[in-house]
Amino acid sequence: MRVAVFSSKSYDRQFLEAANGGKHQLMYLEPRLDASTAIAADGALAVCAFVNDHLDAEVLAALARQGVKLVALRCAGFNNVDLAAAKEFGIEIARVPEYSPYSVAEHAVAMMLTLNRKIHRASARVREGNFALEGLLGFDFHGKTVGVVGTGKIGLCFIRIMAGFGCKVLAYDPHPSQDCVDAGARYVELPELLHESDIVSLHCPLTPQTQHLINEQAIATMKHGVMLINISRGGIIDTRAVIRGLKSGIIGSLGLDVYEEEDNLFFRDLSNSMIHDDVFARLLTFPNVVVTGHQAFFTQEALTEIAKITIENLSSFEQNGKAAHPVSVERIA
Ligand code: NAD
Repeated sequence: MRVAVFSSKSYDRQFLEAANGGKHQLMYLEPRLDASTAIAADGALAVCAFVNDHLDAEVLAALARQGVKLVALRCAGFNNVDLAAAKEFGIEIARVPEYSPYSVAEHAVAMMLTLNRKIHRASARVREGNFALEGLLGFDFHGKTVGVVGTGKIGLCFIRIMAGFGCKVLAYDPHPSQDCVDAGARYVELPELLHESDIVSLHCPLTPQTQHLINEQAIATMKHGVMLINISRGGIIDTRAVIRGLKSGIIGSLGLDVYEEEDNLFFRDLSNSMIHDDVFARLLTFPNVVVTGHQAFFTQEALTEIAKITIENLSSFEQNGKAAHPVSVERIA
């Protein structure tokens, strides 16, 4: 099957080629998929897309006109897809529901440790011959309360790691899981979690219900000096409100792997350009903020699995007219 692989990088090609073994004809396209680039899928029966590709009604209509029947997302989240429009245009949407929850959970922990022990600042200081410790004081995670919002596959991994640190874990999820309770979490309502937690880590998907879940009102109820970690989707926090929280000191430190407007920034080298996004630029001025460019998934194990399941989705669709891991409007309704 001929497949147009949008937003493809050298590492996508490396892992997809290894998983494909020549089964499908993969056309690697560097540009992001949007209304202006959809034409590049001409001649392909399937499109392979990533987190910041635009799959709104306009793009899906353009793909359908060109004969595209399948969009295979090489990610778990599908908030960038208009599922109702995909159904209307007869395009199947497939995803990689699980690849390595460890990769993402471990990145959240890496951010927590970096922020707490100020590794980013300490490392820069030592390189300059500055061995002073002032400003680098951290705290023990042991005995602290960690609030986990969203306790699916990644949330569960994260809870297990936090339990290993000796933290008290509070959890909030509309669908509680016994595995998380067995791992040591106690389910509470969201206001209690926000009020009681020393660290809040977000692991829920971006949906209309979770859009700006962490807003001005939520921040006002949080512990003074709370550490906030978002490696899920940028839109879950209201970035402007979080900046005000940082300025007031309610938010003591912030770790972000995702950002509301990241599709204008992430996954490319802009080091020779100016950053036009003033909100993002303001975030980078805080010493107690660490931002990574949506790399929590970026481990060898995760990329191997993403490529394997993406090829499974393509092969299954080619053979049976149905992807191995479809997403449908009905499923999320
Ligand atoms: P999952 O589907 O296994 O778990 C998501 C959990 O969130 C579910 O238990 C669900 O009930 C819960 N949830 C839904 N609505 C909620 C709400 N309003 N409040 C609290 N919880 C809610 O998904 P997962 O594999 O654990 O991934 C979680 C999210 O992590 C994904 O949706 C994606 O946005 C993000 N993610 C980020 C990266 C990255 O590289 N930064 C990589 C993979 C996934």
